[in-house]
Amino acid sequence: MQYVSTRGHASGQRFCDILLEGLAPDGGLYLPEHYPQVDDATLTRWRALPYAELAFEILSLYIDDIPPSDLRALCERTYTPAVFGTEAIVPLRVLDPAQAGGAPLYLEALSNGPTLAFKDMAMQLLGNLFEYELARRGETLNILGATSGDTGSAAEYAMRGKRGVSVFMTSPAGRMSPFQQAQMFSLMDENIHNIAIEGVFDDCQDLVKAVSNDLDFKRRYRIGTVNSINWARLVAQVVYYFAGYFQATRANDQPVRFTVPSGNFGNVCAGHVARMMGLPIDMLVVATNENDVLDEFFRTGVYRVRSSADTHETSSPSMDISKASNFERFVFDLLGRDAAQVRELFGDRLGREGVFDLGAHPAFAQAATTYGFASGRSTHADRLATIRACWNDRQQMVDTHTADGIKVAREHLHPQYPMIVLETALPIKFAATIVEALGREPLRPAAFEGIENLPKRVVTLPPDLEAIKAFIVARCQGVPAAVA
Ligand SMILES: *Cc1c(COP(=O)(O)O)cnc(C)c1O
Repeated sequence: MQYVSTRGHASGQRFCDILLEGLAPDGGLYLPEHYPQVDDATLTRWRALPYAELAFEILSLYIDDIPPSDLRALCERTYTPAVFGTEAIVPLRVLDPAQAGGAPLYLEALSNGPTLAFKDMAMQLLGNLFEYELARRGETLNILGATSGDTGSAAEYAMRGKRGVSVFMTSPAGRMSPFQQAQMFSLMDENIHNIAIEGVFDDCQDLVKAVSNDLDFKRRYRIGTVNSINWARLVAQVVYYFAGYFQATRANDQPVRFTVPSGNFGNVCAGHVARMMGLPIDMLVVATNENDVLDEFFRTGVYRVRSSADTHETSSPSMDISKASNFERFVFDLLGRDAAQVRELFGDRLGREGVFDLGAHPAFAQAATTYGFASGRSTHADRLATIRACWNDRQQMVDTHTADGIKVAREHLHPQYPMIVLETALPIKFAATIVEALGREPLRPAAFEGIENLPKRVVTLPPDLEAIKAFIVARCQGVPAAVA
């Protein structure tokens, strides 16, 4: 399989070439040159597979530069009950039972990994892939990132103790929930470095960008990223759409709908890929919070990125985005893979005007018709009401992001097609809003009892480029002797 850039310049890359890279050199995002098609017989065969085997089958369609026996071993090491808590890995449970003749609404649990958010599903595989590929090349990598919570902790738990790779994770000092801080800062692994920046998330992100823009520093200290535009993360997420589908249906002629709490459009983009491969997904519902960039697009065709001043801080913070970094992938497909148009929209127009409008474009209607997209929006009041109703009426406690998904999903039900809402985090990660909604503390998995009291390993730095560079230089891996 070869990979192309959404902006048209790069081509002929294989999976392991793009694994350790972020953006394509032309600023675009990588996509496979075509989507492998899965026929009825294949779906039937896959129905019976355990999750790790299913992952191997799907990944092998996109990865042909890792020997199959190695890829299978990587999948088996990643998707085990020891890491994800259950044999099913992503078990489905009923939230709203089927009414007479109708279809139920399910929650698909993607949040039973080490950091209790769905990002573990892809990041755990990425950790194993990185370790494998770096060893094969005899290279090292220092991952630099900025996080407001879920991504950073998922990256750290995926990379901890892995050979050849270190993580330098910046986060805004004092801004993450106490549980999230405890999760990250209690890691004592030597290759994990927590850096609390005296500032807000944007300061962290600016620092990471500034370091990455210093190409000489970046090369010398082998700086890399694990952000959500990485194709390997996306393709790993394709697997649970298949796994969810198989649990909700008995035969391959039964369509389903998925609703996805969305921020950077990574998760739902994986659903798009699954659908393009032939999985019978009737509708992909994009659920946003008050930061409704994506809902606005799917309703009107206008894609209007927000300034940081216009980005709301909400109680579903992992969906607080000003622009959706994976969205370019979908637009590339929507525009018939016309890279010149994508370059004009994302490379020029967005940079210049901060907005583009496809409302009058002949392709826009296909977002709903050909590609099955729909959308909706949820607010803090909706979130509280949904969390309360799930707890009081269904005896299920859901997190704030999942609540946004449930609220929007219920606006897009089909009488016969099951609706599957992706559960993207567990309530314990966002305790303050659970207390606000329910007047009680969230349920806490036993393994996380008392983690707030563990010793913490974190340094606090000012939002200063030289300070963070000096910190990296002192701690990074694999620097040539002449430099160190
Ligand atoms: C990251 C995240 C999201 C948003 O996912 P995208 O892939 O960015 O759309 C939603 N919910 C939770 C809990 C997350 O951590």
